[in-house]
Amino acid sequence: MSALNIDITLNTGAKIPAVGFGTVCDEEFRYKFKDALKVAILEAGYRHIDTAWYYGTEKLIGEVLSELIGSGKIKREDIFVTTKVWPSLWNNPLKSLETSLKDLQLDYVDLLLQHWPLAFDSGAEGKPAVPRDADGNVRILDVDYLETWKKMIDIYKNTGKAKAIGVSNYTVAMLKRLLDQTDVVPAAEQVELHPHLPQVELVQFCKEHKIVVEAYSPLGSNGAPNLKIPVVQELATKYGVHPVDILVNYHAQAGRVVLPRSQNVNRIRTGFKVVKLTAEELKKLDQFGVENPKRFITDSLGKEPRL
Ligand code: NDP
Repeated sequence: MSALNIDITLNTGAKIPAVGFGTVCDEEFRYKFKDALKVAILEAGYRHIDTAWYYGTEKLIGEVLSELIGSGKIKREDIFVTTKVWPSLWNNPLKSLETSLKDLQLDYVDLLLQHWPLAFDSGAEGKPAVPRDADGNVRILDVDYLETWKKMIDIYKNTGKAKAIGVSNYTVAMLKRLLDQTDVVPAAEQVELHPHLPQVELVQFCKEHKIVVEAYSPLGSNGAPNLKIPVVQELATKYGVHPVDILVNYHAQAGRVVLPRSQNVNRIRTGFKVVKLTAEELKKLDQFGVENPKRFITDSLGKEPRL
């Protein structure tokens, strides 16, 4: 069985496929991106696309979805689509969403996330996406990140353009503030999460509050360094699978969403096997990260989220 068939239930009652297709894309791969996405959907069986205004891939995704839906190969409701509001559009998430919907050629997304708990000092169009001062520092505004969340609640309650809303890159302290001060529990929290960064406290907090955790950079991002983790390799040998299957099932078997990315069409086509990791093995993978913590998305936005 393929891990691409596993579903998780959101606090809205909707189902989300546990494995989503990550759509960050290198410049030189863009001309192949549409074919890769078609392989993902039609051959591998992906039913979940994770994208964002910021990634620059939404037009390409829209062209593929329009073609596949138009030709009757898939139905809109067969595909779960997530997009995100980038901090340069913190003040106008509706504009961000409407731009994404236009590019995606869709009427609604299944999930809209606040990409980072940050507000950037950009123009009304959200450009530049990452504004910098003369010293190269990102121009971050002293604005409460909950301002964006409150506007997203309005979108969720009043427009029908986002079936669920959630956050990304929030700490536990930030989630607590959000729960104290607003009246919609995020359906999902997307964070960097893998055996080098198990985020045990955050995962537990989200479980208690019925927030689905989504793991980004599950392979350790570029070059997939997590494939070399000894306990991952041991488990792959034990179950007779590729280490990537262990990294995916580490989340899918624990009730989390996982968002791997590949620009290699053969890897995309292969998909992921289901591996029934035991509770003890899941703990062992967590323990590896407790002892060997490593964060791979360490740009100036990710290092120390502000409270
Ligand atoms: P991943 O952890 O998915 O790693 C991608 C790397 O793994 C690529 O170099 C890829 O190479 C390699 N890889 C994939 N499969 C294999 C395999 N079977 N064997 C060997 N190497 C492999 O990285 P990302 O950081 O891109 O994260 C994935 C997704 O998470 C993004 O696309 C995005 O959707 C989301 N994300 C969200 C963020 C947020 O702030 N909310 C931040 C970062 C990511 P190759 O292409 O050659 O296969």
